[in-house]
Amino acid sequence: MQSFHPPRRILMGPGPSDVSPRVLAALSRPTVGHLDPAFQDLMEEIKAALARLFNAPDHVCVPLPAPGTAGMEAALMNLLEPGDRAVIAVNGVFGGRMVDMAGRAGAEVVRVDAPWGEPVNVAAVEAALASGPAKVLAFVHAETSTGVRSDAAALCALARRHGALSIVDCVTSLGGVPVDAAAWDADVLYSGTQKCLSAPPGLSPVAFSRRALEAVAARTTPVRNWLLDVSLLMAYWGGEGGRTYHHTAPINSLYGLHESLVALFEEGQQAVFVRHARMHEALVAGLEALGLQMLVAPEHRLPQLNTLRVPEGVDEAAVRTRLLAHWDLEIGAGLGPLKGQVWRIGLMGASASPWHVRVCLTALADALGAQGRQVDLTAALDAADAHLG
Ligand SMILES: *Cc1c(COP(=O)(O)O)cnc(C)c1O
Repeated sequence: MQSFHPPRRILMGPGPSDVSPRVLAALSRPTVGHLDPAFQDLMEEIKAALARLFNAPDHVCVPLPAPGTAGMEAALMNLLEPGDRAVIAVNGVFGGRMVDMAGRAGAEVVRVDAPWGEPVNVAAVEAALASGPAKVLAFVHAETSTGVRSDAAALCALARRHGALSIVDCVTSLGGVPVDAAAWDADVLYSGTQKCLSAPPGLSPVAFSRRALEAVAARTTPVRNWLLDVSLLMAYWGGEGGRTYHHTAPINSLYGLHESLVALFEEGQQAVFVRHARMHEALVAGLEALGLQMLVAPEHRLPQLNTLRVPEGVDEAAVRTRLLAHWDLEIGAGLGPLKGQVWRIGLMGASASPWHVRVCLTALADALGAQGRQVDLTAALDAADAHLG
Protein backbone atom coordinates (compact mmCIF):
# COMPACT_ATOMS: atom_id res chain seq x y z
CA MET A 1 0.00 0.00 0.00
CA GLN A 2 0.95 3.62 -0.43
CA SER A 3 -0.29 6.85 1.07
CA PHE A 4 -3.44 8.17 -0.56
CA HIS A 5 -3.20 11.60 -2.14
CA PRO A 6 -6.58 12.66 -3.49
CA PRO A 7 -6.81 14.81 -6.63
CA ARG A 8 -7.60 18.47 -6.03
CA ARG A 9 -11.22 18.99 -6.97
CA ILE A 10 -13.57 21.94 -7.02
CA LEU A 11 -16.70 20.71 -5.24
CA MET A 12 -19.86 22.30 -6.64
CA GLY A 13 -22.27 19.41 -6.33
CA PRO A 14 -24.96 18.71 -3.71
CA GLY A 15 -22.30 18.15 -1.03
CA PRO A 16 -19.62 17.69 0.11
CA SER A 17 -18.59 21.27 -0.59
CA ASP A 18 -15.05 22.66 -0.60
CA VAL A 19 -13.40 22.57 2.81
CA SER A 20 -11.35 25.65 3.58
CA PRO A 21 -7.61 25.32 4.41
CA ARG A 22 -8.22 26.53 7.98
CA VAL A 23 -10.72 23.73 8.61
CA LEU A 24 -8.39 21.14 7.05
CA ALA A 25 -5.60 22.44 9.29
CA ALA A 26 -7.80 22.16 12.37
CA LEU A 27 -8.58 18.51 11.53
CA SER A 28 -4.90 17.59 11.70
CA ARG A 29 -4.27 18.93 15.22
CA PRO A 30 -3.22 16.39 17.88
CA THR A 31 -5.91 14.03 19.10
CA VAL A 32 -6.76 14.29 22.81
CA GLY A 33 -8.91 12.04 24.97
CA HIS A 34 -12.64 12.59 24.72
CA LEU A 35 -12.92 13.20 28.47
CA ASP A 36 -9.91 15.56 28.52
CA PRO A 37 -10.87 18.87 30.19
CA ALA A 38 -9.63 20.78 27.15
CA PHE A 39 -11.89 18.75 24.90
CA GLN A 40 -14.88 19.31 27.17
CA ASP A 41 -14.43 23.07 26.76
CA LEU A 42 -14.54 22.56 22.99
CA MET A 43 -17.77 20.54 23.32
CA GLU A 44 -19.40 23.37 25.27
CA GLU A 45 -18.37 25.89 22.61
CA ILE A 46 -19.76 23.73 19.83
CA LYS A 47 -23.09 23.30 21.66
CA ALA A 48 -23.39 27.06 22.17
CA ALA A 49 -22.45 27.84 18.55
CA LEU A 50 -25.00 25.35 17.20
CA ALA A 51 -27.71 26.83 19.42
CA ARG A 52 -26.87 30.22 17.92
CA LEU A 53 -26.85 28.92 14.36
CA PHE A 54 -30.19 27.08 14.72
CA ASN A 55 -31.44 30.07 16.76
CA ALA A 56 -32.48 27.49 19.34
CA PRO A 57 -31.60 28.96 22.75
CA ASP A 58 -34.08 26.67 24.53
CA HIS A 59 -33.24 23.51 22.56
CA VAL A 60 -30.60 20.94 23.35
CA CYS A 61 -28.06 21.15 20.50
CA VAL A 62 -25.31 18.59 19.86
CA PRO A 63 -23.45 17.15 16.85
CA LEU A 64 -24.17 13.42 16.34
CA PRO A 65 -21.17 11.25 15.40
CA ALA A 66 -22.41 10.33 11.91
CA PRO A 67 -23.59 12.09 8.72
CA GLY A 68 -26.87 13.95 8.12
CA THR A 69 -28.84 10.73 7.70
CA ALA A 70 -28.06 9.98 11.37
CA GLY A 71 -29.79 13.23 12.34
CA MET A 72 -32.84 12.10 10.38
CA GLU A 73 -32.69 8.69 12.05
CA ALA A 74 -32.29 10.22 15.52
CA ALA A 75 -35.28 12.53 14.99
CA LEU A 76 -37.63 9.80 13.78
CA MET A 77 -36.46 6.97 16.05
CA ASN A 78 -36.60 9.07 19.22
CA LEU A 79 -40.04 10.57 18.57
CA LEU A 80 -41.85 7.61 16.98
CA GLU A 81 -43.10 4.44 18.63
CA PRO A 82 -44.90 1.56 16.90
CA GLY A 83 -48.44 2.61 16.00
CA ASP A 84 -47.79 6.38 16.15
CA ARG A 85 -49.18 8.37 13.24
CA ALA A 86 -46.63 10.44 11.31
CA VAL A 87 -47.43 12.86 8.50
CA ILE A 88 -44.44 13.10 6.17
CA ALA A 89 -44.17 15.52 3.27
CA VAL A 90 -42.34 14.23 0.21
CA ASN A 91 -41.13 16.50 -2.61
CA GLY A 92 -37.83 14.80 -3.38
CA VAL A 93 -35.38 12.10 -2.32
CA PHE A 94 -35.02 13.02 1.32
CA GLY A 95 -38.73 13.13 2.18
CA GLY A 96 -38.91 9.63 0.70
CA ARG A 97 -36.06 8.51 2.95
CA MET A 98 -37.98 9.81 5.99
CA VAL A 99 -41.04 7.76 4.96
CA ASP A 100 -38.88 4.62 4.78
CA MET A 101 -37.33 5.27 8.21
CA ALA A 102 -40.63 6.14 9.93
CA GLY A 103 -42.08 2.87 8.59
CA ARG A 104 -39.13 0.98 10.07
CA ALA A 105 -39.87 2.67 13.42
CA GLY A 106 -43.30 1.02 13.21
CA ALA A 107 -45.19 4.27 12.62
CA GLU A 108 -48.37 4.55 10.61
CA VAL A 109 -47.14 6.89 7.87
CA VAL A 110 -49.37 9.37 6.06
CA ARG A 111 -47.41 10.49 3.03
CA VAL A 112 -48.17 13.86 1.42
CA ASP A 113 -46.56 14.12 -2.01
CA ALA A 114 -45.79 17.21 -4.06
CA PRO A 115 -44.25 17.19 -7.55
CA TRP A 116 -40.44 17.19 -7.63
CA GLY A 117 -39.32 20.78 -8.24
CA GLU A 118 -42.14 22.26 -6.17
CA PRO A 119 -42.29 23.07 -2.46
CA VAL A 120 -44.22 21.04 0.11
CA ASN A 121 -47.95 21.64 -0.37
CA VAL A 122 -49.01 23.35 2.88
CA ALA A 123 -52.75 22.90 2.25
CA ALA A 124 -52.35 19.17 1.60
CA VAL A 125 -50.30 18.81 4.80
CA GLU A 126 -53.01 20.65 6.72
CA ALA A 127 -55.66 18.28 5.34
CA ALA A 128 -53.56 15.27 6.43
CA LEU A 129 -53.12 16.67 9.94
CA ALA A 130 -56.84 17.49 10.16
CA SER A 131 -57.82 13.94 9.12
CA GLY A 132 -56.67 12.45 12.46
CA PRO A 133 -54.27 13.12 15.34
CA ALA A 134 -50.60 12.75 14.36
CA LYS A 135 -47.61 12.63 16.71
CA VAL A 136 -45.17 13.98 14.15
CA LEU A 137 -45.05 16.18 11.06
CA ALA A 138 -41.76 15.77 9.20
CA PHE A 139 -40.55 17.67 6.13
CA VAL A 140 -37.41 18.84 4.35
CA HIS A 141 -36.68 22.57 4.53
CA ALA A 142 -34.15 22.59 1.66
CA GLU A 143 -34.69 19.64 -0.74
CA THR A 144 -31.22 19.02 -2.16
CA SER A 145 -32.50 16.66 -4.85
CA THR A 146 -34.48 19.46 -6.52
CA GLY A 147 -33.17 22.80 -5.18
CA VAL A 148 -36.48 23.81 -3.59
CA ARG A 149 -37.09 25.65 -0.32
CA SER A 150 -40.32 24.89 1.56
CA ASP A 151 -42.14 27.18 3.99
CA ALA A 152 -40.80 25.93 7.33
CA ALA A 153 -42.54 28.64 9.37
CA ALA A 154 -45.98 27.75 7.97
CA LEU A 155 -45.43 23.99 8.30
CA CYS A 156 -44.16 24.18 11.91
CA ALA A 157 -47.14 26.43 12.79
CA LEU A 158 -49.49 23.79 11.35
CA ALA A 159 -47.83 21.12 13.49
CA ARG A 160 -48.35 23.25 16.61
CA ARG A 161 -51.98 23.93 15.76
CA HIS A 162 -52.67 20.21 15.35
CA GLY A 163 -50.68 19.07 18.38
CA ALA A 164 -47.93 17.34 16.38
CA LEU A 165 -44.18 17.58 16.93
CA SER A 166 -42.32 19.03 13.94
CA ILE A 167 -39.18 17.46 12.46
CA VAL A 168 -37.32 19.76 10.07
CA ASP A 169 -34.54 18.48 7.79
CA CYS A 170 -32.07 21.39 7.64
CA VAL A 171 -29.15 19.44 6.20
CA THR A 172 -28.73 21.76 3.22
CA SER A 173 -30.33 24.88 4.69
CA LEU A 174 -28.22 25.38 7.84
CA GLY A 175 -25.54 27.97 7.12
CA GLY A 176 -26.90 28.83 3.67
CA VAL A 177 -30.31 30.38 4.39
CA PRO A 178 -31.82 31.40 7.74
CA VAL A 179 -32.92 28.56 10.02
CA ASP A 180 -34.92 29.79 13.01
CA ALA A 181 -36.01 27.14 15.49
CA ALA A 182 -37.31 29.72 17.97
CA ALA A 183 -39.40 31.74 15.52
CA TRP A 184 -40.79 28.59 13.91
CA ASP A 185 -41.31 26.94 17.32
CA ALA A 186 -39.83 23.81 15.70
CA ASP A 187 -39.21 20.64 17.70
CA VAL A 188 -36.40 18.63 16.12
CA LEU A 189 -34.00 20.05 13.54
CA TYR A 190 -31.01 18.25 12.11
CA SER A 191 -28.24 19.09 9.67
CA GLY A 192 -24.94 17.86 8.27
CA THR A 193 -21.44 19.29 8.20
CA GLN A 194 -20.55 18.86 4.52
CA LYS A 195 -23.11 21.14 2.91
CA CYS A 196 -23.20 24.85 3.84
CA LEU A 197 -21.00 24.41 6.93
CA SER A 198 -18.17 23.34 4.60
CA ALA A 199 -16.60 20.88 7.03
CA PRO A 200 -15.96 17.27 5.99
CA PRO A 201 -18.91 14.85 6.10
CA GLY A 202 -19.41 12.71 9.18
CA LEU A 203 -21.24 14.82 11.78
CA SER A 204 -24.89 15.74 12.17
CA PRO A 205 -25.78 18.78 14.29
CA VAL A 206 -29.22 18.30 15.87
CA ALA A 207 -31.55 20.40 18.04
CA PHE A 208 -34.27 18.92 20.29
CA SER A 209 -36.92 21.13 21.93
CA ARG A 210 -38.09 20.65 25.55
CA ARG A 211 -41.40 19.37 24.15
CA ALA A 212 -39.55 16.80 22.06
CA LEU A 213 -37.46 15.65 25.05
CA GLU A 214 -40.64 15.31 27.14
CA ALA A 215 -42.16 13.17 24.40
CA VAL A 216 -39.06 10.95 24.41
CA ALA A 217 -39.24 10.66 28.23
CA ALA A 218 -42.92 9.65 27.97
CA ARG A 219 -42.24 6.74 25.60
CA THR A 220 -43.56 3.34 26.66
CA THR A 221 -40.85 1.47 24.71
CA PRO A 222 -37.10 2.18 24.65
CA VAL A 223 -35.65 3.93 21.59
CA ARG A 224 -34.62 1.11 19.26
CA ASN A 225 -31.19 2.37 18.30
CA TRP A 226 -28.81 2.74 21.20
CA LEU A 227 -26.23 5.12 19.68
CA LEU A 228 -28.82 7.74 18.72
CA ASP A 229 -31.01 7.51 21.85
CA VAL A 230 -31.05 11.18 22.82
CA SER A 231 -31.49 10.47 26.55
CA LEU A 232 -28.30 8.37 26.63
CA LEU A 233 -26.45 10.83 24.40
CA MET A 234 -27.21 13.72 26.71
CA ALA A 235 -25.57 11.98 29.67
CA TYR A 236 -22.39 12.44 27.64
CA TRP A 237 -22.93 15.75 25.83
CA GLY A 238 -25.13 17.39 28.45
CA GLY A 239 -23.37 16.53 31.69
CA GLU A 240 -21.25 19.62 32.34
CA GLY A 241 -18.46 18.55 34.64
CA GLY A 242 -19.90 15.07 35.09
CA ARG A 243 -19.59 13.46 31.68
CA THR A 244 -19.61 9.70 31.48
CA TYR A 245 -18.56 7.49 28.63
CA HIS A 246 -21.24 6.84 26.00
CA HIS A 247 -19.31 6.56 22.75
CA THR A 248 -15.91 7.94 21.77
CA ALA A 249 -16.59 11.27 20.09
CA PRO A 250 -14.96 11.77 16.67
CA ILE A 251 -12.44 14.16 18.23
CA ASN A 252 -10.68 15.52 15.15
CA SER A 253 -13.89 15.85 13.15
CA LEU A 254 -15.19 18.03 15.96
CA TYR A 255 -12.07 20.24 15.68
CA GLY A 256 -13.08 20.73 12.05
CA LEU A 257 -16.69 21.58 12.85
CA HIS A 258 -15.56 23.98 15.56
CA GLU A 259 -13.24 25.80 13.15
CA SER A 260 -15.95 26.05 10.50
CA LEU A 261 -18.27 27.61 13.10
CA VAL A 262 -15.54 30.06 14.17
CA ALA A 263 -15.16 31.08 10.52
CA LEU A 264 -18.92 31.42 10.04
CA PHE A 265 -19.38 33.71 13.04
CA GLU A 266 -16.27 35.72 12.13
CA GLU A 267 -17.89 36.51 8.78
CA GLY A 268 -21.29 37.02 10.43
CA GLN A 269 -24.46 35.01 9.86
CA GLN A 270 -26.21 37.73 7.86
CA ALA A 271 -23.12 38.28 5.70
CA VAL A 272 -22.98 34.53 5.01
CA PHE A 273 -26.61 34.46 3.86
CA VAL A 274 -26.11 37.55 1.69
CA ARG A 275 -23.02 35.96 0.11
CA HIS A 276 -24.96 32.79 -0.79
CA ALA A 277 -27.79 34.89 -2.27
CA ARG A 278 -25.41 37.04 -4.35
CA MET A 279 -23.46 34.07 -5.72
CA HIS A 280 -26.77 32.44 -6.65
CA GLU A 281 -27.96 35.54 -8.54
CA ALA A 282 -24.64 35.77 -10.37
CA LEU A 283 -24.62 32.08 -11.30
CA VAL A 284 -28.23 32.11 -12.53
CA ALA A 285 -27.59 35.24 -14.63
CA GLY A 286 -24.56 33.54 -16.18
CA LEU A 287 -26.37 30.26 -16.81
CA GLU A 288 -29.26 32.05 -18.49
CA ALA A 289 -26.80 33.96 -20.66
CA LEU A 290 -25.47 30.55 -21.73
CA GLY A 291 -29.02 29.72 -22.84
CA LEU A 292 -29.74 27.36 -19.94
CA GLN A 293 -33.00 27.16 -17.96
CA MET A 294 -33.57 26.71 -14.24
CA LEU A 295 -35.93 23.95 -13.04
CA VAL A 296 -37.45 25.75 -10.04
CA ALA A 297 -39.65 28.88 -10.02
CA PRO A 298 -37.61 31.89 -8.77
CA GLU A 299 -39.55 32.32 -5.50
CA HIS A 300 -38.85 28.74 -4.39
CA ARG A 301 -35.17 28.51 -5.38
CA LEU A 302 -32.44 27.67 -2.92
CA PRO A 303 -29.36 29.88 -3.38
CA GLN A 304 -27.07 27.02 -2.35
CA LEU A 305 -28.44 24.38 -4.75
CA ASN A 306 -29.15 25.37 -8.34
CA THR A 307 -30.98 22.89 -10.54
CA LEU A 308 -30.87 23.49 -14.30
CA ARG A 309 -32.42 21.62 -17.16
CA VAL A 310 -30.19 19.67 -19.53
CA PRO A 311 -30.82 21.18 -22.99
CA GLU A 312 -32.30 19.01 -25.73
CA GLY A 313 -29.65 17.00 -27.56
CA VAL A 314 -26.93 17.42 -24.92
CA ASP A 315 -25.35 14.32 -23.36
CA GLU A 316 -25.86 14.96 -19.63
CA ALA A 317 -23.23 12.53 -18.37
CA ALA A 318 -20.62 13.55 -20.98
CA VAL A 319 -20.79 17.14 -19.73
CA ARG A 320 -20.13 16.09 -16.13
CA THR A 321 -17.32 13.79 -17.25
CA ARG A 322 -15.64 16.64 -19.12
CA LEU A 323 -16.06 19.06 -16.20
CA LEU A 324 -14.26 16.60 -13.97
CA ALA A 325 -11.57 15.57 -16.45
CA HIS A 326 -10.72 19.02 -17.84
CA TRP A 327 -11.58 21.31 -14.95
CA ASP A 328 -11.46 19.12 -11.81
CA LEU A 329 -14.98 20.41 -11.25
CA GLU A 330 -17.69 18.26 -9.69
CA ILE A 331 -21.38 19.07 -10.14
CA GLY A 332 -24.36 16.84 -9.37
CA ALA A 333 -26.63 14.76 -11.59
CA GLY A 334 -30.41 14.44 -11.33
CA LEU A 335 -31.97 11.82 -9.05
CA GLY A 336 -35.20 9.81 -9.28
CA PRO A 337 -37.62 11.25 -11.85
CA LEU A 338 -35.08 14.00 -12.65
CA LYS A 339 -32.32 11.53 -13.61
CA GLY A 340 -30.80 12.59 -16.93
CA GLN A 341 -32.98 15.73 -16.96
CA VAL A 342 -31.05 18.15 -14.77
CA TRP A 343 -27.71 19.14 -13.32
CA ARG A 344 -27.37 20.34 -9.75
CA ILE A 345 -24.81 23.05 -8.98
CA GLY A 346 -23.99 23.65 -5.34
CA LEU A 347 -22.90 27.03 -4.00
CA MET A 348 -22.45 25.85 -0.45
CA GLY A 349 -20.26 27.39 2.23
CA ALA A 350 -16.69 27.85 0.96
CA SER A 351 -17.91 26.95 -2.56
CA ALA A 352 -20.09 30.08 -2.65
CA SER A 353 -17.45 32.48 -3.99
CA PRO A 354 -17.10 34.68 -7.10
CA TRP A 355 -14.22 32.49 -8.25
CA HIS A 356 -16.39 29.37 -8.07
CA VAL A 357 -19.15 31.08 -10.06
CA ARG A 358 -16.74 32.17 -12.82
CA VAL A 359 -14.93 28.84 -13.01
CA CYS A 360 -18.21 26.97 -13.21
CA LEU A 361 -19.56 29.16 -16.04
CA THR A 362 -16.29 28.90 -17.95
CA ALA A 363 -16.11 25.12 -17.57
CA LEU A 364 -19.76 24.63 -18.52
CA ALA A 365 -19.35 26.81 -21.61
CA ASP A 366 -16.37 24.66 -22.61
CA ALA A 367 -18.26 21.40 -22.04
CA LEU A 368 -21.33 22.60 -23.93
CA GLY A 369 -19.12 23.84 -26.75
CA ALA A 370 -17.54 20.38 -26.93
CA GLN A 371 -21.06 19.05 -27.61
CA GLY A 372 -21.40 21.39 -30.57
CA ARG A 373 -23.57 24.00 -28.88
CA GLN A 374 -23.03 27.67 -29.64
CA VAL A 375 -22.56 29.47 -26.33
CA ASP A 376 -21.34 32.97 -25.50
CA LEU A 377 -18.99 32.74 -22.52
CA THR A 378 -18.15 36.45 -22.52
CA ALA A 379 -21.84 37.31 -22.21
CA ALA A 380 -22.22 34.79 -19.37
CA LEU A 381 -19.27 36.15 -17.41
CA ASP A 382 -20.48 39.73 -17.96
CA ALA A 383 -23.96 38.77 -16.72
CA ALA A 384 -22.48 37.16 -13.61
CA ASP A 385 -20.09 40.04 -12.99
CA ALA A 386 -23.01 42.48 -12.97
CA HIS A 387 -24.01 40.79 -9.68
CA LEU A 388 -20.51 40.32 -8.31
CA GLY A 389 -19.59 43.99 -8.30
C1 LIG B 1 -27.36 15.37 2.19
C2 LIG B 1 -28.74 15.34 2.79
C3 LIG B 1 -29.13 14.39 3.73
C4 LIG B 1 -28.28 13.23 4.13
O1 LIG B 1 -27.07 13.62 4.67
P1 LIG B 1 -25.82 12.61 4.63
O2 LIG B 1 -24.76 13.43 5.29
O3 LIG B 1 -25.56 12.32 3.19
O4 LIG B 1 -26.19 11.41 5.40
C5 LIG B 1 -30.41 14.48 4.26
N1 LIG B 1 -31.25 15.47 3.88
C6 LIG B 1 -30.91 16.39 2.97
C7 LIG B 1 -31.88 17.46 2.59
C8 LIG B 1 -29.64 16.35 2.40
O5 LIG B 1 -29.30 17.27 1.48
